[in-house]
Amino acid sequence: MTNQTLASRDLSVLWHPCSQMKDHEKSPLIPIKKGQGVWLEDFDGNRYLDAISSWWVNLFGHANPHINAALKDQLDSLEHVIFAGFTHESGIKLAEQLVTLSPPGLERCFYADNGSAAVEVALKMSFHYWRNKGQTQKTKFITLENSYHGETLGALAVGNVALYKETYAPLLMDVITVPGPDCYNREDGESWADYSTRRFALMEQVLQQQSDGCCAVIIEPLVQCAGSMRMYDPVYLSLLRAACDKYQVHLIADEIAVGFGRTGTLFACEQASITPDFMCLSKGLTGGYLPLSAVLTTDKVYQAFYDDYQNLTAFLHSHSYTGNALACRAGLATLEIFQQQPIIENNKHLAITLAKVAARFHEHPNVVEVRQTGMILAIELVKNKQTREPFPWQERRGQKVYQYALSKGVLLRPLGNVIYFMPPYIITAEELELLAVVAWQGIQIAVQD
Ligand code: PMP
Repeated sequence: MTNQTLASRDLSVLWHPCSQMKDHEKSPLIPIKKGQGVWLEDFDGNRYLDAISSWWVNLFGHANPHINAALKDQLDSLEHVIFAGFTHESGIKLAEQLVTLSPPGLERCFYADNGSAAVEVALKMSFHYWRNKGQTQKTKFITLENSYHGETLGALAVGNVALYKETYAPLLMDVITVPGPDCYNREDGESWADYSTRRFALMEQVLQQQSDGCCAVIIEPLVQCAGSMRMYDPVYLSLLRAACDKYQVHLIADEIAVGFGRTGTLFACEQASITPDFMCLSKGLTGGYLPLSAVLTTDKVYQAFYDDYQNLTAFLHSHSYTGNALACRAGLATLEIFQQQPIIENNKHLAITLAKVAARFHEHPNVVEVRQTGMILAIELVKNKQTREPFPWQERRGQKVYQYALSKGVLLRPLGNVIYFMPPYIITAEELELLAVVAWQGIQIAVQD
């Protein structure tokens, strides 16, 4: 088996996500034979450094010995069982740990099987909570400009990235979209905190005027990942928490991409010392092994559904693979690694190294901003650094970086004109340096006319 034979079989039967399949006429699909640590290996023996943690899911490397062993053990006892009317030890233990580790006040865990599904659950639970409380006028959601919450219709509706959303607009529920706190647009010399605070006034205004008809505000804490890794200050979260309380609207924190140490703390909400009413988790939850998501919520929310069956207040949402035992066990093994090793502390040093290797990009004539939050670093390319005029999206400059990096054994997957590093936490300083060198060379090629 070679790359070519497998790619051609693939292209005759498969349809891949987030892809214009015609691109593969020119840009070959890469069949991966195995993964080890931060490295992937294809069928021709080429290796690729997984700088994006396989879509932000992998925390501790591919074929991680600890997670592998846990999964083998789980496989010998229980792979899956219906999660309604039945339960299992791994599902219980994982929920106990998530409730303990998450911000105080989150006391209930509801499982689903991917990030978008978790967002759907949180939206439905919030709406249903208000309905159970007799507040049937609360039907709307407030979301931020440039946000992303997944691809199913509800999740897409509360997202705001035009590339994914626009086509389906006629199918989507109406939401209230508020200008965001993303600090890319701050004035010269203005701090992140000042800018995010200033932008909060726009949110407060909307809450003041429309909270009566609103169920919840949904946000990605600190980093809008799919929205080009745009970042903002934790002060926005503190202000938002207080305002949601004041105006009686839920706060949904979508930590699907930023949870599990990505931003420098186990959960991004910790940096503002807030507890959301709903917290959505997925991606890193299983260390990048298996699809699983969880929505954590408060006892107050839980109690609003707890009643005699005849009163029809129950949350009947379900997925066949809810609480899959193998996935829960992978989640437990992932949390064990956090407990056994000082991961958050180590990441502080790693984030400093990341900043150091990326320092060279500040001087690049086509780089307008290098921004970082913990283990996420993003480099924004523009056509004109002075005017900030972007490269037209049709030129696909980021795609050129992607192609070049692959030829040098690095998997980068730019978001438009934004190159970012979001590697597994086991990456070494040498590997980070390699990333920076390859990205620099790729950018040099991509910005040529
Ligand atoms: N929310 C956020 C913040 C995400 O980054 C993503 C995935 N990129 C999702 C939701 C959707 O998760 P999934 O792809 O598992 O449906």
